[in-house]
Amino acid sequence: MAVNIDLYNKIKIDLNIDKVTLVAVSKLKSVDDIKNLYNLGQREFGENYVQELLEKQALLPKDINWHFIGHLQTNKVKYIAPFVHLIQSVDSEKLLIEINKQADKCNRQINCLLQIHVAQEETKFGLDEEDVKKIMDNAHLYKCVNICGIMGMASFSDNVQILKSEFSRLTFLFNKYFSAQPSGILSMGMSSDYITAIEEGSNMVRIGSLLFGARQ
Ligand SMILES: *Cc1c(COP(=O)(O)O)cnc(C)c1O
Repeated sequence: MAVNIDLYNKIKIDLNIDKVTLVAVSKLKSVDDIKNLYNLGQREFGENYVQELLEKQALLPKDINWHFIGHLQTNKVKYIAPFVHLIQSVDSEKLLIEINKQADKCNRQINCLLQIHVAQEETKFGLDEEDVKKIMDNAHLYKCVNICGIMGMASFSDNVQILKSEFSRLTFLFNKYFSAQPSGILSMGMSSDYITAIEEGSNMVRIGSLLFGARQ
């Protein structure tokens, strides 16, 4: 299925008004689909799997900002450390320590978001509020990571009240730790719930299926 260009243009306009950054989630989608959006000016793309990201990164223009949004195993950090733009899915301090180490080796600082678990589903990775406090207390130890905000996923639900209460917990944590950062990132909202997420304060949405069609 091809990229939905009309919808892309519409979403871009909607988001610009609220100064929300669009990350196009291209997991399981082809290099050609990505090029289509690239040619319309899209530069932020999100991927979930290290191997797939490496293959695409090698084939696509170097000015793409690659966001890693899937569960990241510590032993794979080294492969993406040289080029990744933002790791949105930091779900343990152990992972943060490894990102710091690999960033140091590459002589760079890697931007990271702390992934918070707010959804009802058991399977979604993420930190709780205690973990966030502990990591933020230690943040000064990690010189090669730049913790710039929060990422989270709401429950798989179309109940707006549930979505709102989960997003508002993410917003609360974001305000607590990052409101002083002018470039702080609150990444929440996907194809099915991004409008609610923006109403609750999101400044970055991660949209896949709405742009690229359903995944297999
Ligand atoms: C796949 C994925 C998305 C995009 O989901 P869509 O429903 O296709 O928009 C966003 N965030 C994360 C973390 C994902 O894994």
